[in-house]
Amino acid sequence: MRLPGGLPEVPCAKCERRVAGLPWGELCPECRAERQRRATRLAHRISLAATALMAAYVAFRLPGDPTSRLYGAVAVLATYIIVRRVASRVAMEFLPR
Ligand SMILES: [Zn+2]
Repeated sequence: MRLPGGLPEVPCAKCERRVAGLPWGELCPECRAERQRRATRLAHRISLAATALMAAYVAFRLPGDPTSRLYGAVAVLATYIIVRRVASRVAMEFLPR
């Protein structure tokens, strides 16, 4: 339903507060921000766990020469960044509302 002279007011999918211009089935800015915070926290925990595993793998499996250690450190850092980014994206998508 379109109100005359303005954007339609659509209820938020979670708190059902009506927000002008919100697409159907979407979250209002407050709920979206709350969800983002939860997703970020979850992604942080998951990426720390993955990084710890990667660090353990690098420490035990790679030879101890400086070049290998450098590559190992880069791999551990990349693991943290990539897992955090992916986990955050997935969490935003699949967290319960
Ligand atoms: Zn809401």
